[in-house]
Amino acid sequence: MASTLMNTTSSQSSVMSEPMDQLQSRGDLLNELDARLIANTADSGLALLLVKIERFRRLNVIFGHALGDALLHEFMQRLQQVVRDTDVVARMGDSEFGIILSDIRNQGHAQLAVHKILSTMETPFILDDRPHRVSIKIGAALFPAHADKAMGLLQMAEKALMAAREGMQAYQVYAEEARTERFYDWDLEGRLQYAEDNDELSLFYQPKICLKSGELFGAEALIRWKTEDQGYIRPDIFIPIAEQSGQIHGLTRWVLNTALRQIRAWPDARSLKVAVNISASVLQDDSFIDAVQRALSIWDAPPQSLILEITESALIADFDSSLGMLERFKDFGIGISIDDFGTGYSSMSYFRNIPATELKVDRSFVSYMLDNVMDHRIVTTVIDLARSFGLNVVAEGVENRETMEALRELGCDIAQGYYLARPMPHEEFVQWIEDYQASH
Ligand code: C2E
Ligand code: CA
Ligand code: CA
Repeated sequence: MASTLMNTTSSQSSVMSEPMDQLQSRGDLLNELDARLIANTADSGLALLLVKIERFRRLNVIFGHALGDALLHEFMQRLQQVVRDTDVVARMGDSEFGIILSDIRNQGHAQLAVHKILSTMETPFILDDRPHRVSIKIGAALFPAHADKAMGLLQMAEKALMAAREGMQAYQVYAEEARTERFYDWDLEGRLQYAEDNDELSLFYQPKICLKSGELFGAEALIRWKTEDQGYIRPDIFIPIAEQSGQIHGLTRWVLNTALRQIRAWPDARSLKVAVNISASVLQDDSFIDAVQRALSIWDAPPQSLILEITESALIADFDSSLGMLERFKDFGIGISIDDFGTGYSSMSYFRNIPATELKVDRSFVSYMLDNVMDHRIVTTVIDLARSFGLNVVAEGVENRETMEALRELGCDIAQGYYLARPMPHEEFVQWIEDYQASH
């Protein structure tokens, strides 16, 4: 159980003290956060979570304040049970809570706590003998990654919470290149319009290797945009812009056609698979099914040579509407891969229904799995989960031999990462395949 905090007026930390009455305000939380940031050692970080109960006012109006208070009381208790002793839960406002998580070494750790909270709040609250379900949203920010002062961290967490609420996602971790207007780059949007015509787009390929046989499985196609004046613009920057502006539809068709055209030049192309990344909004567009079938037929590629990678969070955001399209793709023989697995929030009931053929364990877990017990456990669990559902499991972000060996021992099917090869231009990749096959 976590400690709770009282109404302190000083900035003295209560980290070491006994649990006390609840901390009641934003100011109290900031004081506590300040004290912890100062006391924090260099080798670990903190996370601040803001948890908001949606439509709480409505519940208060319909069922009365007594019931609302009872709900808040139990909500607080559940929060305290789910976090660790060293964490702090504070009431921030009407229906908002702040949680300080200590000893957070990477985003994956914060996400794990978020998942636990979401899952514990799935159980209905029994109030006046009737079950009440609550819907919650969570915003998270990390110290020192996102801010180095208490106030800054709180603002980042607030932004993340707002983004989660606007984007209809269960939670959001603050992202530096967040898709908020403040960061929206109109200039880039305008230039992206001409990127294809100006020949500024290309695909890089990163190999995926079968861990058991050592054979090449295929490659992931990753888009690159090279501008004349600014050099390469990272996909993390322009893909969100393309998603917002709607340019993603054209871009995805370009990627698909380019990848299917280029694999024809790969040695042994028929036995290899190319994976392309698909944004959530593309799955909302019915004409995408035709576009994929047309591309396969134009480039005379068997459906089995194509894998569509969709992130777990994208799938969950529009679960019902994307399901039908994915089922059709899968029936057709196209591979469906759940990307960045472990970072989204899919409960088992969602997961069971996704017509996937492959799971990709997110690289934030793979990268640290040998240094961090929790990450190792997550990777092991995801591998077991994938196998029990008969899915291929891919580990991305494999950066050294030790990690690759560990994954092989755990029964992971496929590895991808800098240790094997960095993403490279098409011509280079063709040469890479030849060299690889000659030496294996
Ligand atoms: P992703 O799908 O998770 O792609 C893998 C990213 O991890 C790539 O970054 C790759 O370069 C990087 N990576 C690979 N191995 C390692 C490793 O061992 N260590 C580390 N630290 N990183 C590694 P990249 O190419 O910058 O792509 C970033 C993201 O942009 C992708 O993440 C994907 O979400 C998006 N993206 C890229 N191409 C496309 C596209 O054609 N369409 C869409 N919708 N999104 C794309
Ligand atoms: Ca991917
Ligand atoms: Ca990924």
